[in-house]
Amino acid sequence: MGDEQIPTIGRCYACKRTFRFTPASVMTAMIDPETGLLPGMTVLGTVREPTPEAVARSVEEPFCPDCVKKAVDFADPPALQFDTWPRGDPDRD
Ligand SMILES: [Zn+2]
Repeated sequence: MGDEQIPTIGRCYACKRTFRFTPASVMTAMIDPETGLLPGMTVLGTVREPTPEAVARSVEEPFCPDCVKKAVDFADPPALQFDTWPRGDPDRD
């Protein structure tokens, strides 16, 4: 049980920054490796019902506190602001 409190090093899925976190408390999100987005989310930022296949292949990815804060800021106000979201390109490097 105590194992989950041991800090580990991982790479933030959004900004690719290496950061230290404890698995028990880090913010994660399910990411569909086919799209690099949440299952059911389209590249336009709209959400549709995820397919069972998308959910099945999705993996949990960690996000650093900076990106979590950006995501919260991004979600409020609800207006889409593409220029404020540093979207990583999963196909590069
Ligand atoms: Zn990050």
